[in-house]
Amino acid sequence: MTLKSTENKGIQTLSIHGGEAPDPGSGASVPSLVMSSTFVVDEEISFSATNLSSDTPFVYTRWDNPTTRQLEQKLALLEQAEASLAFASGMAASAAVMLAHLSQGDHLVISNTNYPGTAEFARETLTRLGVEVTPVDTSELQSITNAMRDNTRMVWLETPSNPLLRISDIGAVAEIAHAQNALLVVDSTFASPIATRPLALGADLVVHSLTKYIGGHGDAMGGAVCGSQALIGALRGEALVHYGGVISPFNAWLIMRGMATLPLRMRCHEENALAVARFLEAHGKVEKVLYPGLESHPQHELAKTQMDNFSGMVCFRTAEPKKVAERMMQKLEVIHYAVSLGHHRSLVYLMQTEDLIGSSYRLDGNELDKYRDAAGDGLFRFSVGLEDSADLIHDLESVLT
Ligand SMILES: *Cc1c(COP(=O)(O)O)cnc(C)c1O
Repeated sequence: MTLKSTENKGIQTLSIHGGEAPDPGSGASVPSLVMSSTFVVDEEISFSATNLSSDTPFVYTRWDNPTTRQLEQKLALLEQAEASLAFASGMAASAAVMLAHLSQGDHLVISNTNYPGTAEFARETLTRLGVEVTPVDTSELQSITNAMRDNTRMVWLETPSNPLLRISDIGAVAEIAHAQNALLVVDSTFASPIATRPLALGADLVVHSLTKYIGGHGDAMGGAVCGSQALIGALRGEALVHYGGVISPFNAWLIMRGMATLPLRMRCHEENALAVARFLEAHGKVEKVLYPGLESHPQHELAKTQMDNFSGMVCFRTAEPKKVAERMMQKLEVIHYAVSLGHHRSLVYLMQTEDLIGSSYRLDGNELDKYRDAAGDGLFRFSVGLEDSADLIHDLESVLT
């Protein structure tokens, strides 16, 4: 009743059974939810996280917890990683990776348009700590090569990236990073492990916001990092135990339940997103549609080689976006006007250019021109959910007048 081997199992089987087993005490088929913060031990165990090893028994939930461990094992199987580590949120995971691997005098190369929290953390917090940060368009390999220095310790990609859905070539960037002995970290939240396995393409660490596709239902926040046993073990000791951004076992349990249907959901997200993207592309009031699955996407060919599924994120541009946003808030029946993404419910939100450029990205010159060329005054970021695509299209028709 426990998988004897995970090697020859398909992704649907692993999403359901991977990492979990019936409770040995009760025989319960559902993984047990262990909310205990502490554990009764029958031998002396060191109080220091520096003495943690993979066979240390459960001691304290900030170190490790039986429910969270099952989530981590399931995630590692889906990402084809040796190990994975869960955090309280995607930002807790991202901040942990950057703080644990970058020190004063080190240099980071990072996407110049990405998740605003990550962009602001790199630009404000890391630079305050003496880390040099160079944001570049990571979809252009030459820009990354030009940005590399002797002290570059990390290259950070987000692919597809927020909100332009730029695709970066993970395999090619891995070669550039490794030539300089820098780590390649990929935030793969928009892709999910169903679309892309960055470790197999050469990345050293993969970061996810579990709050999005992996949990999938908008009811639990979480984050994770996947990679080699050595990197993840070190991260547990330093970042989880000492920075303390530990996930609630209840959220880990909810996210694990969501993961069981991840492959099925991603199939439907992609199918609905393609239907919506084609509808938008043909609509007279829509000026531009960005979706990696459309032939018109600037990196469609790369997306085809790097993504097994084009995911459910569609961005589009209209004239007078603020007026359209107002109509959305008043008229939408099925789609929620709300931030976040990757839920079964459809979510749409206007990402205003002025706002993002002023607070998160600070682009100028050619990079600002490129951003404006794609996004105009603002892009609607549409996380296409699992409703009937005809109902989503009907909802959009009612506001695109
Ligand atoms: C949401 C998101 C994050 C942050 O995750 P939280 O769980 O909200 O902290 C990081 N990266 C990307 C690409 C995201 O979409």
